[in-house]
Amino acid sequence: MTGTGFKPRTALALVLFMCIVALAPAHPQAQSGEKNFISIGTGSVTGVYYPAGGSICHLLNRGRRTHGIRCSVESSSGSAENIKNIRANEIDFGVVQSDTQYQAVNGLSVFADDGPYDDLRAVMSLYFESFTLVARTDSNINSINDLPGKSVNLGNPGSGQRGTMDSVMKAMGWTEDTFAEVHELKASEQSRALCDGVIDAMVYTVGHPNASIKEATALCDSILAEVTGAEISKLVSDNHYYSFVTIPGGMYRGTDYDINTFGVGATLVTSANMSEEVVYEMVKSVFDNIETFRELHPAFSDVDTTKMASEGLSAPIHPGAIRYYREKGIIK
Ligand code: GLU
Repeated sequence: MTGTGFKPRTALALVLFMCIVALAPAHPQAQSGEKNFISIGTGSVTGVYYPAGGSICHLLNRGRRTHGIRCSVESSSGSAENIKNIRANEIDFGVVQSDTQYQAVNGLSVFADDGPYDDLRAVMSLYFESFTLVARTDSNINSINDLPGKSVNLGNPGSGQRGTMDSVMKAMGWTEDTFAEVHELKASEQSRALCDGVIDAMVYTVGHPNASIKEATALCDSILAEVTGAEISKLVSDNHYYSFVTIPGGMYRGTDYDINTFGVGATLVTSANMSEEVVYEMVKSVFDNIETFRELHPAFSDVDTTKMASEGLSAPIHPGAIRYYREKGIIK
């Protein structure tokens, strides 16, 4: 072909070149070869960690065209498993209870064999979680003090509630023999087990309201029970990461009155190896859109950015988060 200057090979080369340009990442982070696909370890799909991770990813992914980061969530056994998976490089971020975060940093409890996790980094605090005791009405359990001799789900290994329950049992001077039966069911299984009569009571360290406890209180006659008394007061005053809380009456069928218990913070953690840019963008996408975040789940409705940058964070704060908090004057 002559005259027009059109050559099929040239055209093909041009198309190929344009495809490469179009596919090439336009953001500096991708060009520098840093990790763009990140995962957040959460909890059971019936809990609040799963929607919490999903909400963070949703807000972060909205800015994907600018920063190039893509976020996804994974369900898991819960707090302790999330921290172990971050340490093993299997996930990048994890939602974890503030007591579990403290224990991991200091190599305590379920982390005793692994030793202190020096590279654990705090990103932000999210919302409050209450240690929640739910009992079938016919089991005559109205308070934590009524649990001896009953069939109780202590929580699955790797979950945060199992860790909190272990602390409660220690504080009360209980062992597994204190109960008629102990179970290690996952959070997603326990509501059904409660209503099927497999267990008399279940515990869940969780934000409110949540789908799991709605399920337990809708499927059969069950109530939330008080977690109070001298031993619980001592447990809370001896450990800075615990505080007293009231679960407002009327949230769940069968419990129209306030329930006194204690709780922890739900926090987001990562490893010291995580890129500063990724953590910065993640914090920015949540904090810059805090009104939207509050609307994504009723348990997030009263989150406060000042508290989110400080409360319940035992691990050193990741430099990417510090950069955002300083920029906004949230921390000095
Ligand atoms: N606090 C629970 C845990 O650490 C999870 C609660 C939830 O999934 O919302 O395992």
